[in-house]
Amino acid sequence: MSDYLKEHGFSDLRACDAHIHIIYPHPIEETEQILRSVCGYFAYDRIAIMSMTESSNKGCDPFANVKALYLRERLGVHHYAFGSLFHWYDGRDTAQSFLEQVRKIDALGFDGVKMLEGKPIMRKRFAHPLDDPILDGFWGYIEARRLPITLHLTDPSDMWDRSKCSEYAIRAGWFCDETFPTRRQLFAEMEGFMRKFPALRLTLAHLFNVEETPRAAAQFLEAHEYAGFDLTPGDLMRLSLREPENWRAFYRDYSTRLMYGTDTYNISRDGKTPEEAWGYRPTHLRMFLEGQEDFEYAGDIIQPLKLDGRQKRLILRDNLIAHLGECHRPADYALAAEECARLREMLKKGEFGDRVSGERIPMESRNLEVMEAFFRGQPAVR
Ligand SMILES: [Zn+2]
Repeated sequence: MSDYLKEHGFSDLRACDAHIHIIYPHPIEETEQILRSVCGYFAYDRIAIMSMTESSNKGCDPFANVKALYLRERLGVHHYAFGSLFHWYDGRDTAQSFLEQVRKIDALGFDGVKMLEGKPIMRKRFAHPLDDPILDGFWGYIEARRLPITLHLTDPSDMWDRSKCSEYAIRAGWFCDETFPTRRQLFAEMEGFMRKFPALRLTLAHLFNVEETPRAAAQFLEAHEYAGFDLTPGDLMRLSLREPENWRAFYRDYSTRLMYGTDTYNISRDGKTPEEAWGYRPTHLRMFLEGQEDFEYAGDIIQPLKLDGRQKRLILRDNLIAHLGECHRPADYALAAEECARLREMLKKGEFGDRVSGERIPMESRNLEVMEAFFRGQPAVR
């Protein structure tokens, strides 16, 4: 049994983390080493890397998709990667370009699609409702191909109330004034595209639901047969303080539709212990799912859910494997190598402008070279 599981009194269950990010710019070998250490420390069986070509406050990474695919291939057949759309925020963003991008994500062999476009600040930048016809081809393709999609939709309701926003949230630009879509509108847009594409295998990240009640969360799952939630900590532990009994029943009743996830980033340890560098969300979430004692999280005293063995196993592990398969999809290495070369050429020509800072260019250019060499040195399709 791993030291981490033993020290925290967790069950001897190698978990699968459905929600990992790699937005910090490092040499690709360093990110790989960080992910290996994360898997080792938390005794993970598998992780799903959620590519983000752009984040709300950590910059733009036009190379995120090839990085996610490369890292998945390096980590092994049991790990997964989701691709994401790149936006220019000008006339180059068209229904056709979104469709072509998702076709490429599929052809490269990603296990699913990650969307941050439903986070208020990203939705504002995108400037189209999520059920706008500009995405019809994109959604239709994902539905027809049965590709899983993980969507960050809305933010905690406090983000619409300036007095309840932390300094950090305000500085990050997450406070939603009247120029942002409301929570209700974002959920209406999601219901809009789900009406058009009801078979989408949609996972809503962070267990965000419009009314912030167990009843609304259950209604969402009842209404959408193929949908689920990931439990990446946002507000879910604090919300459990309201209606604690009903929330506990929700987690028990819907344990086949919920997945453990943590929003762990490729953060360098820089002399910190693994627990200090990466542990805050994963450890508290696991305490929530399987601890016995009340604990403090973000200033609140949280009571654990006390799930039974089967429910824990589903949420921590089995649901992700059932969702994405025993092994990841095969990658098209020739296409991935081509993609690295294409991006390197664009970077060289300065096409990303100041979205990739000058000081990052040599490193990103080298990352693309390293990844291209890897993809070229392998058989085209496993
Ligand atoms: Zn995330």
